[in-house]
Amino acid sequence: MLLVGKYGVVGLLLGSILPTGYSLDPTTHHGVKYDNSNPHTGDFSHELPFHHIHQTHHDLEADDGYSHIRIIFTNDIHAHEEEFSTLGSDCKDADMEEHTCYGGAGRRQTIINRLRAGYKRSLLFDAGDVFQGHAIYNYYRGNASAVVMNAQRYDAMTIGNHEFDDGLKHLANFFEQLEFPVICTNLNFDKVPRLAKLVKKHMYLEEYNIAVVGVTTTTTQFISMGEELDQVEFLDAAEAVQAEIDLIREKYPNILSIFLLSHNGYLQDQDLASKVSGLSFIFGGHSHTYLSVDHPHDPDSRGPYPTAVLDKDNKPVYIVQAKKFGEYVGFVDLTLNQEGRIEWLSGQPVHMSDKIPQDPDMQTLVNTLLEPLHSLRTNPIGKAIPDMRQELCKTGECLLGNMVTQAILDHANEKKRVDKPEADKVDIVLINSDVMRAGIRRGIVYPIDIVNVFPTGNELVEITMTGQEIRQAIEASVTEVSPVDGKKVTGFLQVAGLKVEYEFKKALYSVLVRDPRVPLEKLPNGQVDHKSLKGWKQLDDDTPYTVLATNFLSEGGDHIFPKSYTYHSYGRLSSVLLEHVFREPVLNPKLDHRLYSPS
Ligand SMILES: [Zn+2]
Repeated sequence: MLLVGKYGVVGLLLGSILPTGYSLDPTTHHGVKYDNSNPHTGDFSHELPFHHIHQTHHDLEADDGYSHIRIIFTNDIHAHEEEFSTLGSDCKDADMEEHTCYGGAGRRQTIINRLRAGYKRSLLFDAGDVFQGHAIYNYYRGNASAVVMNAQRYDAMTIGNHEFDDGLKHLANFFEQLEFPVICTNLNFDKVPRLAKLVKKHMYLEEYNIAVVGVTTTTTQFISMGEELDQVEFLDAAEAVQAEIDLIREKYPNILSIFLLSHNGYLQDQDLASKVSGLSFIFGGHSHTYLSVDHPHDPDSRGPYPTAVLDKDNKPVYIVQAKKFGEYVGFVDLTLNQEGRIEWLSGQPVHMSDKIPQDPDMQTLVNTLLEPLHSLRTNPIGKAIPDMRQELCKTGECLLGNMVTQAILDHANEKKRVDKPEADKVDIVLINSDVMRAGIRRGIVYPIDIVNVFPTGNELVEITMTGQEIRQAIEASVTEVSPVDGKKVTGFLQVAGLKVEYEFKKALYSVLVRDPRVPLEKLPNGQVDHKSLKGWKQLDDDTPYTVLATNFLSEGGDHIFPKSYTYHSYGRLSSVLLEHVFREPVLNPKLDHRLYSPS
């Protein structure tokens, strides 16, 4: 397919389609002047002379002996080139009426243009995970991201764990298309010469006399589904960064500043900052963390923007991150003195609300990219009664999890009844909640809504687990600690066929399993009686149960299962859910206390 537009003729490989006002706080900012002299409302909906707002202490045009740099950054875009709803899914009429359509490359482009126009010297960075999370990725396999990022003229990116999901060859193909460097310091690609050539350990920007290093999470080895990952050596992030800083400072003894692009998570960034010396700024990602200049008064914020941590030499390192999907574009304005000390600092994450107009050229490009997906969003296949939010599934029972796991269980048992009447029924469904990447908005359901729930191409697999192994997996999920080896667990299971009583992060009390042959008890009004325990019994440690799980879990992903399992493939999650909606087009899940905390 060829795209012709402002950005030239672009060849695309087609993948398979499937289905402020902040207070100056010397303890937080360590005496660095964080400008609040001209507080503003954060409204970026019209043209603003940014340098008038933000550069009140230094005249940018003057040769004042200081170095002024504006850094614009994004992280965890996850293929969200088009605007999206609060659920991370396609923006619908109801969302437009409620003004809850956010992001998209068109709005990002508008803000990037305005931020660039307001500052003489600016850089644009991305902290990784541009792959996975939207049907556009399923179709273009990252090629759309390359086209958009090149058009937006990024200066550098680091690698996210999801960039590995389609294997190393695919990753190299993607990097080859980029017109800017990829920086990652803690990966050893000695066994993969193509990637060794494409990924830089650091980047030195002569014009600015600064350098950029990069890190990605070492957990990629366990959380990515990509092939040949064993060919890549993941090195300790702090050690690798310090070694590279030492090398850079030896080579450029008068360097002003060193920045880190990090796909390692907010807490890990703070830990790394405290262990190194010679780093000034971390542009982070991976944990999808929203930081606010109004923290702690901003109820959604997880920390201050920027978050300052003292390094090994008691010097501040500043950490920023901008949530996920490009709902925010972050920026930081720095004034460095001749020794590289940050004299003055400002910036904020800019919300990509629907008040921000979409840049027409970029939006045309996005619309062109979206054309092949048109039929996926114009043929209604069903109707959702409630909103089914994805974020709620990470800590407890949720409508989306109940709907999906029940659909899988019903699908499997119906298929077995038809194909092999003598076969054992599937007893239990276990899926990691993070495999669901978006929620479903109430209203008409289109195929793309289903693809957006499961954009990662994960498969369902059938395995046999003993009751004890299932109990260990559930305990790992609800307590966040593996009972087998005491290691931390970060995933949470959504279940069907089980009733689990637990206290989150504390204890597992009981696990009941349902006998699929006993019909569900009904109330006089015809609804299922969720309080009835008829057909439920304690999970027996020695009994083998037939379980449908994601291939990710079965291969030891997120460290939830007590071991890895050999399995046979059952089909793609998105296909199974699509078939379910074709059969039962009204989606109206209820909470039934299958994951129940008594307190
Ligand atoms: Zn990530």
